[in-house]
Amino acid sequence: MTNTIFVRQLKTMLTWLGIRNFTIGKRQIFQILLSLVVIMTVNASRCDADDESCVQEITDRPIIVVGSGLAGLSASIEAYNAGANVVLVEKEPRVGGNSAKATSGINGAASKYQKNAEIDDSVGTFKKDTLSSGDGLCVESLVDLLANNSASAIDWVSSFGVELSNIVFMGGHSQQRTHREPARPDGKPSPVGFNIVSALRKHAESLVGDKFAIKTGTKVERVITTKAGEDIVASGVQVSDSDGNREELIGTIVLATGGYGNDHTDSSLLQEFKPEVANLPTTNGPFATGEGVKMGRAIGAQLMHMDKVQIHPTGFIEVTDPNSASKFLAPEALRGSGGILLNSEGKRFTNELGRRDDVTAAIFAQKTTLKGVDNSPSVAYMLLNEDMCDKFGQPNLGFYKFKKLVRPVESLKDLAEEMGADVETLKETLSNYGKDADPFGKKVIPYTFNADSDKLWVAVITPAIHYTMGGLSINTQANIMADGSNRPIKGLYGAGEVTAGVHGGNRLGGNSLLECVVFGRIAGKSAATYTQDTLASARELDEPTE
Ligand SMILES: Cc1cc2nc3c(=O)[nH]c(=O)nc-3n(C[C@H](O)[C@H](O)[C@H](O)COP(=O)(O)OP(=O)(O)OC[C@H]3O[C@@H](n4cnc5c(N)ncnc54)[C@H](O)[C@@H]3O)c2cc1C
Repeated sequence: MTNTIFVRQLKTMLTWLGIRNFTIGKRQIFQILLSLVVIMTVNASRCDADDESCVQEITDRPIIVVGSGLAGLSASIEAYNAGANVVLVEKEPRVGGNSAKATSGINGAASKYQKNAEIDDSVGTFKKDTLSSGDGLCVESLVDLLANNSASAIDWVSSFGVELSNIVFMGGHSQQRTHREPARPDGKPSPVGFNIVSALRKHAESLVGDKFAIKTGTKVERVITTKAGEDIVASGVQVSDSDGNREELIGTIVLATGGYGNDHTDSSLLQEFKPEVANLPTTNGPFATGEGVKMGRAIGAQLMHMDKVQIHPTGFIEVTDPNSASKFLAPEALRGSGGILLNSEGKRFTNELGRRDDVTAAIFAQKTTLKGVDNSPSVAYMLLNEDMCDKFGQPNLGFYKFKKLVRPVESLKDLAEEMGADVETLKETLSNYGKDADPFGKKVIPYTFNADSDKLWVAVITPAIHYTMGGLSINTQANIMADGSNRPIKGLYGAGEVTAGVHGGNRLGGNSLLECVVFGRIAGKSAATYTQDTLASARELDEPTE
């Protein structure tokens, strides 16, 4: 490697460290030595001597997006659109994360689909609902971004070919604003999260080439940092593949690693911050172990709201394995389409479309358990008629029927017996539903029941860990904040469930997919701008001086 190349790398590295003033003091000497170590490590692991392409790799620093759920995909695509090189790193063999499991929908206020359906919604109402759901803990500037960009997020997602014209009510919303795909004419299910992820994944795959790479089966183990004065500067990550081979990637980082809703590792964040719920079942995939939060904490990032864990009221109970630790989610859209919840007496006990934490607390308070099951979890019975099934989408329901999670009710007598209820009480509950003002304050009753003639469907549900509101603190550029200094960590961005602040103490259904798109896009653009600015400074320094 020639001296010129070496000096250029050193200057670039110094710039990345935030050092533009070359007055040499003890601290600068230390920083230069540190830079040399990083350069030598990079070159030793990745470059042959005199290899110009190696310099190219360093000076054309990529944006390293960690995690390929909706936040990571959105960040990658936007970073690429902003002219950056992108490496999307995913530890699982497949992209998608929990985003691909989402089944209810994505929120948008004053969207084109709402306008077409003549739904009178506004950004202000949406913001109010989100803040009120968050129990005063939401970071308002982030909620502003979420609400102001929600309609454009819906447009952006639909620009990849995802039709989001089926709009439903979800708990805690004052308007229909959760967008999902309509039932497909061919009768096949169209799960909204899977479809959105697939559309973005296909687009990302079409970009793969010199400037865009997707590395699956590659786990990020730690973030590499240096100090520049008061600042922490993130300059790359260490990754390992499934054979345990390690490599360092140098670049600007976007953490999009999702939450810790299934963290039962030795360093479990659930045990550390919310031990009382740690043993509940979960709807999350096995990858949701909070690695981004842990890596951030290890380099001095600020954590927020770590004890705020959302328990979804309705995880499906599988008759064959009622105590399983992993649950299929009974999507909130089932209740949004009209489904009601009953206790063992055959009575309703809550506003089914109340906030998730309220519905969960109400289920636990009923103390309804499964007859004949040892250590039965707290359960409730969800009832739907055909109109409600149609509204939810028969093809989507087909999966749950196939899995016997949603079963036909042979007769009210049989159902009452299964529940341990009196059949007349059950009939009365169905007949009275929606007749007068709702005793639990439910405002939206899409359909009522006819106890004598309705074909009914039942599902047994139990509360399950679903979402972790806690995570890394970010600013409005999606820059991850350092703990205790009110300064962003240079070169480190975050989006999606790994971050905290948007949802405060309790997330509104449909707001997570939206957060992934809005803040994923912001993180991608911010990371690209940071990279371009830093490289521009490096090039300035690289100009020959007189
Ligand atoms: C069953 C279910 C249904 C849901 N339904 C809805 C819904 O209808 N609407 C809604 O708004 N929200 C819903 N949510 C919540 C929402 O889906 C998630 O919160 C959101 O998708 C998280 O997206 P993300 O991109 O932040 O993380 P994820 O989609 O979870 O992606 C994170 C990715 O990072 C990878 N990763 C983690 N650590 C590393 C590492 N060290 N190195 C490399 N890769 C790593 C993971 O493998 C994963 O693929 C649902 C959640 C579940 C579980």
